[in-house]
Amino acid sequence: MYNVQEIRHDFSILKRRVGEKKLVYLDNAATSQKPRRVIEALTEHYEQHNANIQRGVHRLAEEATAAYEGSREKIARFLGAPDSCGLIFTRGTTESINLVAHAWGRKNLREGDEVVLTEAEHHSNLVPWQLAARDTGAKLRFVPILDDGTLDMEEAERLIGPRTKLVSVIHASNVLATINPVERLAELAHDAGALMLVDGAQSAPHLPVDVEALGCDFFAGSGHKMLGPTGVGFLWGRPEILDEMDPFLGGGEMIREVHLDHSTWNDIPHKFEAGTMNIAQAIGLGAAVDYLDELGMENVREHERRLGEYAYRRLSEIEGIVLYGPEEDRTGLVSFSLPDVHPHDLSQILDEEGIAIRSGHHCCQPLMRRLGVAATARASFYLYNTEEEVDALVGAVTRAREFFGAFA
Ligand code: PMP
Repeated sequence: MYNVQEIRHDFSILKRRVGEKKLVYLDNAATSQKPRRVIEALTEHYEQHNANIQRGVHRLAEEATAAYEGSREKIARFLGAPDSCGLIFTRGTTESINLVAHAWGRKNLREGDEVVLTEAEHHSNLVPWQLAARDTGAKLRFVPILDDGTLDMEEAERLIGPRTKLVSVIHASNVLATINPVERLAELAHDAGALMLVDGAQSAPHLPVDVEALGCDFFAGSGHKMLGPTGVGFLWGRPEILDEMDPFLGGGEMIREVHLDHSTWNDIPHKFEAGTMNIAQAIGLGAAVDYLDELGMENVREHERRLGEYAYRRLSEIEGIVLYGPEEDRTGLVSFSLPDVHPHDLSQILDEEGIAIRSGHHCCQPLMRRLGVAATARASFYLYNTEEEVDALVGAVTRAREFFGAFA
């Protein structure tokens, strides 16, 4: 039984006040809050087991290594990956995509090749490919967004072809709440002989994910958006592809043998984990995944689906409001704008009521241009948010609308 009030007890920060007001935290797409268990996992690591991993043969090093590698196995299982050797720890989605753009892209892309993205990509799944295209002569192609916020799949079928070497798309949009048909895109990519990368920053925290069922070759995610600490995320890749890739960063631990004039590489995943990693954070992410597993991702999804639908319906009743993204099959976030109110002013006014939302371009400037706006406001929900918090949001947005409307 999913009990949101019980869940909220695990998140001390949700009890705090912002001035006189109760905190209503609706900026989960930017980063989630952390349950006590994750914070305790960090403390326990530092108080009881802290040591560098892989190299040491003393007790603490063995304990820290076992916890770090245990976390790798938990995350691989959480993603439905058949084997944890394909799970690489990174700083987050951004670093994971840069890893692929460097270690796979620089080695495999040539002039005349194409990388297919969409118009709705976060900058972290666009800029790394712009840089790789500049260095290799490859071209970027973009699947357009239809007016309802879904992908133009007819155009995707036309764009993905013999020149395509990689299709790289968001699983779920951090602006539109759209869930993309990545299984179908992976089929199209593979039929064309290309690889498929999924930016899972907004899906792994919210939806059950199974990389085998999705049929992707790479899956990138950020720990801090899924109850874990900042500074850690992951890239899952098919082991046979990772084996063939160049290293990303050079240094300690990623090598097998080093000579003055050349080196050979460690096995995956260590080939991609140069230097001292964010050990405590990786262990903390393991604790976050335990927490999500115990709640059950199907239950988390159902809670957020209901909350998102409720928020979408209640907000749509506000006069003049524009809501972005599809009406159905959404994740639990809502982007919106009000006539006569700049999203920054709106979020400032909401902050005075203790309500934390995000406003801006959400690191999706090309998508903002496609939508014809400079910025939107965005309320994003997570597993601990409640209908009462949605009501607080709707009340505050309505009051702001009336307040600014008076000057219009
Ligand atoms: N992709 C998407 C869809 C995102 O929402 C974000 C974070 N806003 C990222 C990538 C980047 O994640 P990070 O900053 O954790 O690397």
